[in-house]
Amino acid sequence: MWIRVLGSAAGGGFPQWNCGCANCRGVREKTIRATARTQESVAVSASGDAWVLLNASPEIRQQIESFEPLHPRGPRHSPIAAIVLTNGDLDHCLGVLSLRESHPITVYATDQVRRGFIEKNVLYRTLERFPGQVTWRRLVLGHPQDVVGADAPGAGAPIERHAPIGLSVEAIAVPGKPPVHLEDLPASPEDSVGLLIRDAVAGVTLAYFSGVGEISPAVADTLAGADCVFFDGTFWSSDELTAGGLGTKRAEQMAHLPVGGPDGSLARLTGLSAVRKILIHVNNTNPVLREDSRERARVEAAGWEIAYDGMEITL
Ligand SMILES: [Zn+2]
Repeated sequence: MWIRVLGSAAGGGFPQWNCGCANCRGVREKTIRATARTQESVAVSASGDAWVLLNASPEIRQQIESFEPLHPRGPRHSPIAAIVLTNGDLDHCLGVLSLRESHPITVYATDQVRRGFIEKNVLYRTLERFPGQVTWRRLVLGHPQDVVGADAPGAGAPIERHAPIGLSVEAIAVPGKPPVHLEDLPASPEDSVGLLIRDAVAGVTLAYFSGVGEISPAVADTLAGADCVFFDGTFWSSDELTAGGLGTKRAEQMAHLPVGGPDGSLARLTGLSAVRKILIHVNNTNPVLREDSRERARVEAAGWEIAYDGMEITL
């Protein structure tokens, strides 16, 4: 299984357009040891030919261009067989609207996330230019399914439509919340999921949990059995935004378990057998972005890595 991190930052990216926090200023002015990051999205492939995107960020065009295996191999073609959405946050979904150039696409999402994206959304009509432009495939919690591809008939090196691409995906409910623009709707277990991606031929699994409000037994079980783990690295501490005068909500109110502290994910996730353990969806305020910070050293001493744009892993 091949994994390429296209974007590693939380919503807003790093630096964020309207943020003058120490990290954002420092990376702009090149006065800290840190590199800029686009918003979270990861490409996964079993063959190297057909790829699945985990989430579709607002920076999807730049991210596709940044990685040659995602470039077209014919006059109208894309090696992107499918997109899987982990929740309805705009930093995970807006990129789908950007893929509007009359190309068939396949999107996997829970029914809750699909409805949140298409209902009352007049902009979604740009993806209804022809019948079958978007094929939605429902993620049913706890049920693995083969990922099948989509591509234009007659394109160069086509991905056969609806043919398996060698990966399966299973959605696991994670304690989360609806996206900010739908917070008035009732919460659902389908609001936010983690993914278990399997390559049966290679016999390897990837657990992808980029947004986790709490480590439930189901989340812990999934992480324990995976060969590679991506986990929510949004905030180091609960009061990261409030202490900096950058927001009014604690990390937990935004459905992100902090990394640091006695009850943080670093302390709670000791003993995982995964060969690679990576924090992703890192908010621009997080001190782990500074390569010479104490917090970064603690993460690395615990055997974890911080995702960066362009990171590649082969399992
Ligand atoms: Zn910032």
